[in-house]
Amino acid sequence: MSAEPDAYAEDRARLVLDLRGSGVQDQRVIEAMERTPREMFVPESFRRHAYDDTALPLALGQTVSQPSIVGMMTEALEPHPRAKALEIGCGSGYQAVVLSQLVRRVYTVERIKALLREAERRFHELGRGNITTRHGDGMKGWPEQAPFECILVTAAASDQVPQALIDQLAVGGRLVAPVGGNPLSQRLIKLVKQEDGSTVETELCLCRFVPLLGGVE
Ligand code: SAH
Repeated sequence: MSAEPDAYAEDRARLVLDLRGSGVQDQRVIEAMERTPREMFVPESFRRHAYDDTALPLALGQTVSQPSIVGMMTEALEPHPRAKALEIGCGSGYQAVVLSQLVRRVYTVERIKALLREAERRFHELGRGNITTRHGDGMKGWPEQAPFECILVTAAASDQVPQALIDQLAVGGRLVAPVGGNPLSQRLIKLVKQEDGSTVETELCLCRFVPLLGGVE
């Protein structure tokens, strides 16, 4: 991937240490994040913080998730090179670019058109040909492309993961999502789809995401 010649090499090395320190173990995930120029995904004025382990603001009240959370979510999805992945909440496109290096194709949905157009520009600049975008309400998923081995929701549902997304998960597939209406007590959960269509849930950690909203802008 063509990052700028490397003003950020040291920052990226620090990012790797932060990821390991927060429990991310999958070397492929760490390498994908090390290759992804996060400075391209944040507003100009925050570039010098691009590799800090914090969430950073995007336009229109949205945020780029914290790197250690991106690492943890990506690892929990158990991505593999033949998998099809669905992301709800494209935002800056950072998470989609990380994931696109680990699966066959990423389908990503965003409800705010202006954000999606910016993300598409970044995908193009980085030569990510295996990311397909849609402007729409991600609560409905992307039924035409289902089933997905990996589904990632990057905005918090108030009480439960929308059933349409669970329906679009392949048997054995993994869905990772923040759940909880109160931003101070959201849980990041992982669901694994069973043969009989039910899901087994594990809690990964507490987290703080912007809300999953209906409709488009
Ligand atoms: N994954 C992003 C983080 C995005 S923040 C990144 O790496 O930068 C969450 C995003 O989810 C916001 O951009 C918000 O507009 C979007 N969102 C919220 N509800 C949505 C919905 N129902 N469908 C699609 N996108 C949604």
